[in-house]
Parts: sequence; structure tokens; C-alpha cells
Amino acid sequence: MTAITDPTTDAPLTTAAVARIPADPTAGRAPRSNTPVIEFRQVQKTYDNGFQAVAPFDLSVAAGEIVTIVGPSGCGKTTVIRMAAGLSSVSGGELVRTTEQLAYVFQDPTLLAWRSVRSNVELVAKLKGVDKATRSAAATAAIEAVGLGAFERSLPRQLSGGMKMRVSLARAITSAPELMMMDEPFAALDEFTRANMQMELLRLWRLNAFGAMFITHSISEAVTLGHRIVVMAARPGRIARVIDSPSPPTLDDAPRDLDALAATAAVVSELLSEA
Ligand code: ADP
Repeated sequence: MTAITDPTTDAPLTTAAVARIPADPTAGRAPRSNTPVIEFRQVQKTYDNGFQAVAPFDLSVAAGEIVTIVGPSGCGKTTVIRMAAGLSSVSGGELVRTTEQLAYVFQDPTLLAWRSVRSNVELVAKLKGVDKATRSAAATAAIEAVGLGAFERSLPRQLSGGMKMRVSLARAITSAPELMMMDEPFAALDEFTRANMQMELLRLWRLNAFGAMFITHSISEAVTLGHRIVVMAARPGRIARVIDSPSPPTLDDAPRDLDALAATAAVVSELLSEA
């Protein structure tokens, strides 16, 4: 597979991204560093109608760390990620982002219907003014990375739901993100495709080692993907518990302890039933 290159340095992204993460011999090969890519310090959100959607909230995401956020409908998950993305203002506290290398993946892949897979993948880089040769090379690598090499000339209507989501992921990784913000990206997919996409995301993460905030309704998804799992409660939206995964995803794809993950899922389920 072709290495994805960093558009600014032309260095292979795999190496460059992994090199950003300080080695931590004690971390069971989970790439946690002490450098946050985003930090919420007592961040809260009160909407204009006076409704407090999110009570003061502390959370940080380290470089290369996947933080999943799970909670019942209406507990403020989307509000949190919209504030993280700068799409919604913060009513109090401080939100610090240490990177501008951001990418977003939402439930709707938002592909332009009249543009090919390649053209859709290149679009964000094009809008950012990245030169044609650089964005074309990055798109080729990203399309290969998500297994759509044979479909790069296809139009969105010729693709399945899972394939469209792969295009959305490819578009996100072409910008060499240090922070991926994902708001229920796989929620509209059938169960089988969803499980495949979770594995696909972890494969891309092993290549690119991005930090991520990943919002989900699904307990198993939160536990499968997260280095840490944030369980939220509602009225007002707040953190009920942050759980360190007992068997997190690792860059070397070490086998996961499925019993430990199942036990974590049971704890999350219990917390949500109290939320
Ligand atoms: P979730 O993503 O967990 O379902 P949201 O962040 O969408 O939760 O919403 C949290 C709460 O904030 C909900 O009670 C919702 O009704 C409320 N809310 C969301 N957007 C607005 C808004 N623009 N104005 C007022 N209340 C809002």
C-alpha cells in the first residue's frame, strides 16, 4: 500500500504521525502522551433559551488517543463535539485546542452527488488551496487505504452506505489530522457494515495515529474503539464516569482481551441505566 504523505512536508504520514507520539514503555503500547490535542476546562453550554445543555466539563484528548463519548439521547454529546469543532460557542470555561489539523466525520457522509469518489476525497484539500499534485497524491493514498482503489471514478449513487462512509474517512485522512471529530459516523449503517467500519477506523488509526473524539450511542462501539470511554448523563449533560479501557487498541494491533472489554461494556451499561 502506498504511504500517505503529509502535504506540508511530503514525508510519509505513517512515519510522521507515529513519530509525533512519545514512546511510553508503560502504556501497553496504547499511544498515550501527555500532550493534549484538545482540552476542555470547566467548559459549559447554556443555549440562548436559558437551557443548560452541558454543565462544567473537564476532558482532554491526548495526541494519538481515541476518546469515545457515550450517553443517552439529549445528554449533550453533539453539543460537546460541536463546541470542540468550533461550530457552537462556549458559554463558560476554556476550550484549548493545540492543533489546527482537524478533520470531521459525521453520520451523513455529505458527498457531492455529481463528483466522483476521487473528486470528493480531494475537495477539502482543494478548498484549502493545497496544490493539485500534493492533493492528488494524498487522495490516491487515502483511497487505497480505505480499499476503494477500484471505485475512484464512481459516483456516490453507485456506492453502498459503507463505501460512502469509507469515502468520508478517506477525505478526512487526506488532511493528516491530529484530531478527528466523529459524531455518530456509523450510526446509519447496518450492524455488519458498522462492525467492519469500526475495524477500518482502527486500521486507519494504526497508520495515522490521530487523536479522536468519537460520539456514539452504542456501548459496544464505545468500548471497541476507545482508549478511554466517557460515559455521560443527562439533565444537565455531564460526565458520569471516565473509564480507561482495560484492553485498548494498540498501534501494533495486539490481541484484545475480549472478556475485559465485555466487563467494561457491562459497567458502561450499568452507568447508563442510572444516568
Ligand atoms: P445528544 O447529542 O446527546 O443527543 P444534544 O447535544 O443534541 O444531545 O442536546 C443536548 C440538549 O440540548 C437537549 O436537551 C437538546 O434539546 C438541547 N439543545 C440542543 N440544541 C439546542 C438549541 N439550539 N437550543 C436549545 N436547546 C438545544
